[in-house]
Amino acid sequence: AKAFGKARYHVFNPAMHQEALQLLQLETDLRRAIERQEFVVYYQPIVSLCEGKISGFEALVRWQHPTRGFVSPAEFIPVAEETGLITFIGTWVMREACQQLRIWQEEKLSQESLTMSVNLSVREFSQPNLIELIDDTLKKTQLSPQNLKLEITESAIMEKDGSVTAILQQLRNRQIQLSIDDFGTGYSSLSYLNRLPVDTLKIDRSFINPIDKNSESLGLVPAIITIAHSLGMSAIAEGVETQQQLAKLRTLNCGFGQGYLFSKPLGSKLAADLLASSPQ
Ligand code: C2E
Ligand code: CA
Ligand code: CA
Ligand code: CA
Repeated sequence: AKAFGKARYHVFNPAMHQEALQLLQLETDLRRAIERQEFVVYYQPIVSLCEGKISGFEALVRWQHPTRGFVSPAEFIPVAEETGLITFIGTWVMREACQQLRIWQEEKLSQESLTMSVNLSVREFSQPNLIELIDDTLKKTQLSPQNLKLEITESAIMEKDGSVTAILQQLRNRQIQLSIDDFGTGYSSLSYLNRLPVDTLKIDRSFINPIDKNSESLGLVPAIITIAHSLGMSAIAEGVETQQQLAKLRTLNCGFGQGYLFSKPLGSKLAADLLASSPQ
């Protein structure tokens, strides 16, 4: 019995055990958070680089934990995906974000073409009733499909492969706009990209980050912008933090940017204030 116990000790090391417990705790907390509505949606502006106007917002979920404070989505979204809880959270975020844009339209704070981008995880993308759910959200919030933009990561698209094009096409048929998120990190084949009914490539922050260092550090950014434009898509640079990055992106003809240089993600009140005081 002693030898067995010793062997077990090697298999379940205390650090692993600790990690498993934390995950379990996080899952329990997430279930409670859904019941108690501890989630909030923040909005980060997407800016047209030549005119400096706000062209839309990305909805980013925040979790206000009763004891831990704000928990980063980078921490809880993966757990929510693994446990399937993402479908509840995602549905709620989409509903909330669509409703918010509709309110801004009614208050004449936002002009007609301003878009609301909502993230869709792989798991959500695989829901059999995804289309129904989106139709229902648009109907209930009375938002036009043209104002909704869905962000799907490049890796999610590659993972789902075959069925993806059909779903994207159904969304496109409804005039919902589509973005490929974190572009450049997921090894898309270019021929595949050509067949996807997508409007926008979002260039991952990891590519934008080094471009202000020196002239050799542009890396793949010019190529990605060229690919986007030659396929009739627009390009959004993610994580724009400095004036130098902005200047480089402008010379590269990148159409849109998002990042702390323009604004951090804001709660709905501050986002409305920003809308009221900015050109669109
Ligand atoms: P993402 O979709 O790539 O979102 C962009 C992330 O970059 C956000 O982090 C945003 O706050 C951050 N960011 C924006 N500008 C800058 C900048 O200039 N510098 C830096 N360093 N960061 C910047 P956040 O809000 O923590 O979200 C992290 C990830 O969690 C998102 O990455 C997305 O994958 C996921 N996520 C957030 N909200 C949702 C949601 O409602 N549904 C789903 N499925 N995923 C979500
Ligand atoms: Ca995104
Ligand atoms: Ca992204
Ligand atoms: Ca990301």
